Amino acid sequence: MKFKKIILGCIVLMLFSCKQTTKVNNEVIAPKNVILLIGDGTGLTQISSAFYFKETSPNYARFKHIGLINTSSSREDITDSAAGATAFACGVKTYNGAVGVANDSTKVENLVEIISPKNIKSGLVSTSSITHATPACFYAHNISRGSAEEIALDLVNSDVDFFAGGGTGYFNNRSDGKDLLNELKEKGFTIDTTSLSDFSSIQQYSKAAYLLAENHMPPASENRGDFLSKATELGIQFLNKDEENSNFFMMVEGSQVDWGGHANDGAYLVSELIDFDDAIGKALDFAELDGNTLVVVTGDHETGGFTLASTIKKREDGSEYSDYDEISMKFSTKGHSATLIPVFAYGPGSEEFIGVYENTDIFEKILKMTKWRSED
Ligand code: MG
Ligand code: ZN
Repeated sequence: MKFKKIILGCIVLMLFSCKQTTKVNNEVIAPKNVILLIGDGTGLTQISSAFYFKETSPNYARFKHIGLINTSSSREDITDSAAGATAFACGVKTYNGAVGVANDSTKVENLVEIISPKNIKSGLVSTSSITHATPACFYAHNISRGSAEEIALDLVNSDVDFFAGGGTGYFNNRSDGKDLLNELKEKGFTIDTTSLSDFSSIQQYSKAAYLLAENHMPPASENRGDFLSKATELGIQFLNKDEENSNFFMMVEGSQVDWGGHANDGAYLVSELIDFDDAIGKALDFAELDGNTLVVVTGDHETGGFTLASTIKKREDGSEYSDYDEISMKFSTKGHSATLIPVFAYGPGSEEFIGVYENTDIFEKILKMTKWRSED
């Protein structure tokens, strides 16, 4: 009898431990790295344009886990890029124009500040000035997005390890006469103001900066070339280079999709969207090989009320018809719109991004899946 009880006990224990093991195996592994790609002003129609106007298959088609965000800011139904990026970088809804500060103008800790004490590196890439609203929210705190010189000073005083974009003038041609490029050098940065370099030439440095335009980078269709893809690849290589402390967070912004929308210029918008899609491909290529990288692609809001409409044509008798075999790009506003914005996720933790939620949840979900906010 006693023997039977022991055997039964053993079986129960075995079943129990078996269940425990399964549970452990089913637990999602925390990603080591996160690459957040933000298409400024990129709604579903902007994304859809790649499926009609890109010659190769869009990288957006490589995702399985997709969600939607509401992007309203604290005071307005329709957000601007500053409030939009503050939601992603700091996890709070704030007023339009606010950079890394809450609705009451108090500073809010951003992702870079949360992770740098844990020796997790960070990188920022944009096709605007690096001081512009979207990248700024990841390192600066300012009541107004317009204060580009103050924002540049915040970048020098931040723990960002790699950045690439435009904006040289806010660093070395300032109203206070300061030379922030020198200050960056003193902090261990290697700086290039002419072109992106090969990884081998920056490998030995702890920090690297590329400021390749006085203000914003030129449009993709002018002479920006494949800057965004190249900078994304270089940033990933640089942040991932050390055996120890190779964990990183990187934000990549396709800044000018928004400007094509504001200008109601379909060709400008589509060329920027395709360029951004190329950069998404670089992030996914790395994540596929690495296996420990979470890639999240979203937008801060939609711009232009963009539509891929059918083209209105006239018959011989003068009556009109819609030609369903010819897309005509149309806009309904010169500003932003309030539509929900898609979120695409790949890699460990990507299931978390399915559903309909607020833009601030992007921040929460990144921290939840990576466990970067935990005390240990
Ligand atoms: Mg932007
Ligand atoms: Zn805009």
